Amino acid sequence: MANADFLNEINKRRTFAIISHPDAGKTTITEKVLLFGNALQKAGTVKGKKSGQHAKSDWMDMEKERGISVSTSVMQFPYGDKLVNLLDTPGHEDFSEDTYRTLTAVDSCLMVIDAAKGVEDRTRKLMEVTRLRDTPIVTFMNKLDRDIRDPLELLDEVEAELNIMCAPITWPIGCGKLFKGVYHLANDETYLYQTGLGHTIQDVRIIKGIDNPELDDAVTSDLAAQLREELELVQGASNPFDQEMFMAGELTPVFFGTALGNFGVDHMLDGLTQWAPKPQSRATEGREVTAEEEKFSGFVFKIQANMDPKHRDRIAFCRIVSGKYKKGMKMRHTRTGKDVRVSDALTFLAGDRSLLEEAYAGDIIGLHNHGSIRIGDTFSSGEDFRFTGIPNFAPELFKRIRLKDPLKMKQLQKGLIQLAEEGAVQVFRPLTNNDLIVGAVGVLQFDVVVARLKAEYNVDALYESVGVSTARWVYGSEKDVDDFRRKTQSYLALDGADNLAYIAPTMVNLSLAQERYPDITFAATREQ
Ligand code: GDP
Repeated sequence: MANADFLNEINKRRTFAIISHPDAGKTTITEKVLLFGNALQKAGTVKGKKSGQHAKSDWMDMEKERGISVSTSVMQFPYGDKLVNLLDTPGHEDFSEDTYRTLTAVDSCLMVIDAAKGVEDRTRKLMEVTRLRDTPIVTFMNKLDRDIRDPLELLDEVEAELNIMCAPITWPIGCGKLFKGVYHLANDETYLYQTGLGHTIQDVRIIKGIDNPELDDAVTSDLAAQLREELELVQGASNPFDQEMFMAGELTPVFFGTALGNFGVDHMLDGLTQWAPKPQSRATEGREVTAEEEKFSGFVFKIQANMDPKHRDRIAFCRIVSGKYKKGMKMRHTRTGKDVRVSDALTFLAGDRSLLEEAYAGDIIGLHNHGSIRIGDTFSSGEDFRFTGIPNFAPELFKRIRLKDPLKMKQLQKGLIQLAEEGAVQVFRPLTNNDLIVGAVGVLQFDVVVARLKAEYNVDALYESVGVSTARWVYGSEKDVDDFRRKTQSYLALDGADNLAYIAPTMVNLSLAQERYPDITFAATREQ
């Protein structure tokens, strides 16, 4: 039996990521969350694309030039009696593959919505990805200090477009210049908003009871009347919070506030730390591994190069699934079967690296990678299993990559395959010619690849257009695949890990092939 201290360490962990459309306020809310976690003295040092300051997690000059965050960083901080791991994800959609995979490493997500805009594209797409594992979702309606849309309409939109029921936990009183605060439905308390205190943790005035006349004085009797009226509607039309439905990803608790004004973020954090799941089990090819198992195990969901210009190295981000990491422990890299002793795993506190003594299920540790670790790899305490469910997504953009100096072909191939293993890009090598085709989900990935080929492999490469617009991994019985292979050779390629893929000039080719070869599966995602 696991001892009580060990179980307590695991039970108090909450590992989550933020999903949102660009500009909804993810960076701002991250700053405030860290302020509450006391990880930063004063919010505003995470990323200052406006002030010209740059996040410590920014790692490439290119990223700085463009003011976007390419990297995923991990932040750990205490909140109440819980220990929170917040996994930051690249905001730019061009790095969505990284974001998607990061979502496999969390146990819950915070969805931030710009309440003036409602549900936007990227939120839709990210919600689809969370559906792969039915991840529990907490919702924050942001920017209440602006003129927002009718809150009831916003909830309707979330329910209809994202197919998840909404349980409002707080309800806004006014918005824009008239934003007065929120009413907490379960606590029957009103929290009053003050402007201009966004950089601090505010002393919030609380008014107990919805019928308290103090409320009318504090927010004006018009707004108080409007609130009481809306609450009747809300309580009739929306769902109460239900833990089981939340855990199944069927219902989301909704909070209102302003990240910039640092108002409502703590209500959301209270809810998240209370309701969001502790570290959850993960499936392997054989069995489920639970967090409470004492033996260490984990999987790699991201590899990042050049996190710190002073350390020209690659870090593999490993989510601990079970047990405990202890400095100096031996772990098995199950794909290679090798046992390695690890005494220099890293933890990431707001972008700073520090050496780690121990870490528990739910935590993310950074392993130094000298080229042998791939995305999706499992580390265990000797048991030979592999975690499943870390996906590759079929790229949507393709280019042929060509060398300026043809003598560097070997370096180019090596570089591309390594970058593919890191998940920076995907590579396809057609069966019938010597092209190297690079596939990406977002256009910036192409630039990153050329920059890294130059910096890390000393290879000058450039792109040409190529007549490929879609790729699917193909599966089937050996006989069906052999037959398919003979007949469609010129449309087939091997990816970086030698998996067979169908690459077609148009979607029409793909649908025709799907019709002609019904026994072949054309998959848009591939598990590592
Ligand atoms: P991200 O792209 O999702 O990381 O969004 P940011 O956090 O960078 O925010 C985008 C813009 O919205 C910035 O100019 C923020 O200052 C602003 N913003 C964020 N939260 C709020 C808010 O609550 N109210 C207002 N008025 N602006 C906000």
